[in-house]
Amino acid sequence: MSIELRNVSKSFGEVTAVSGVSFSVEEGELLALLGPSGGGKTTVLRMIAGLETPTGGDVLIRGNRVNDLSIQKRNIGFVFQNYALFKNMTVFKNIAFGLKIKKWRAGDIQNRVMELLTLFGLEDLEKRYPHQLSGGQRQRVAIARALSPKPSVLLLDEPFGAVDARIRQDLREWLVRLHHDLKVTTIFVTHDQEEAMEVSNRIVIFSRGHLEQMGTPREVYEQPANEFVARFIGVMNVLELEVLRGIARIGELEFPAPESSDGAKIRIGFRPYAVQVSADPNEFRYKATLRHTFFLGIMLRLEFELPSGLTIRARMTKEEYAHRELEDGVQVSFQIRNYKILSGGKSQLHLESSIPIEPPPPIAEGI
Ligand code: ATP
Repeated sequence: MSIELRNVSKSFGEVTAVSGVSFSVEEGELLALLGPSGGGKTTVLRMIAGLETPTGGDVLIRGNRVNDLSIQKRNIGFVFQNYALFKNMTVFKNIAFGLKIKKWRAGDIQNRVMELLTLFGLEDLEKRYPHQLSGGQRQRVAIARALSPKPSVLLLDEPFGAVDARIRQDLREWLVRLHHDLKVTTIFVTHDQEEAMEVSNRIVIFSRGHLEQMGTPREVYEQPANEFVARFIGVMNVLELEVLRGIARIGELEFPAPESSDGAKIRIGFRPYAVQVSADPNEFRYKATLRHTFFLGIMLRLEFELPSGLTIRARMTKEEYAHRELEDGVQVSFQIRNYKILSGGKSQLHLESSIPIEPPPPIAEGI
């Protein structure tokens, strides 16, 4: 175990930024802290770094309680958005900075910096100043600087927030490769769910200071712990239904609800990939009109309108769409292959039909 938080809380006066959070990070893991703005992600990261002291609970690094340990003694490298490179220092000096503080020998500093420049693809840039670098290069230098003293943990706060979309994509892939090569335990903060899904081994999802769920990208996508997670990670159809004689209904859709009493409301969620569509209007029970097709790369998102006016979203590949000869305005039939009761019933995954559920398509594609 590399890092552990036990029931950690942090208040700033009246504001509770983090409330009773517990989780642990394995040695060598790449973990994302994900959540909407103000969720408490940065505060958690700053408590691990030693920049904030918890109001309650304990932070442990490799089994040792570090609540009162100074930043310098924690052996942590960090890149925070507001910790820019030193403007008056070259790339070489920026990367060497932490080593000088630690009083490394000049020859060792030279070797270590050269090693990092090569590893990070920054050869030939060592004499440049930060203003002579691209945004992507600056971020790589910042990470090289954080890693130069060989920290046991690397913390990154929105590391790619300031660069444009294409460079951000390159940097994400680069970070995955770097982590694969170095295997330094890394925690990064992001509010971008696609970034978290693509880059990390596991994700911790925060909202309003609470930990909502921790799991692999696949777990949080396929088995969201609650409605907040279900809606935050990817697209989900969420319906509120009323129960009558063991059946929950909205418009023409019906789901069994044997455990709920008459008049009770339940909320049901299902992913677009759980909707099986047929171009034959009579193949499945429910009928609908294809209203809009959204092109998202190789996957398409489809919006269907039921006769009652209800809208549901489905997804499929371009090939499937072409094969079924679909286009906006056509009549189709559909069934919902699995769904989850989000509230008002026993929360678990339900299978509506006997058709085996295929694994969902790659998550970052048009969720
Ligand atoms: P963002 O994605 O916007 O950075 P976040 O999830 O990282 O958000 P935090 O920065 O941890 O959230 O903030 C959590 C809450 O704590 C917010 O309501 C914020 O206003 C509050 N907060 C954070 N730092 C302080 C501080 N130094 N003083 C007072 N309130 C603070």
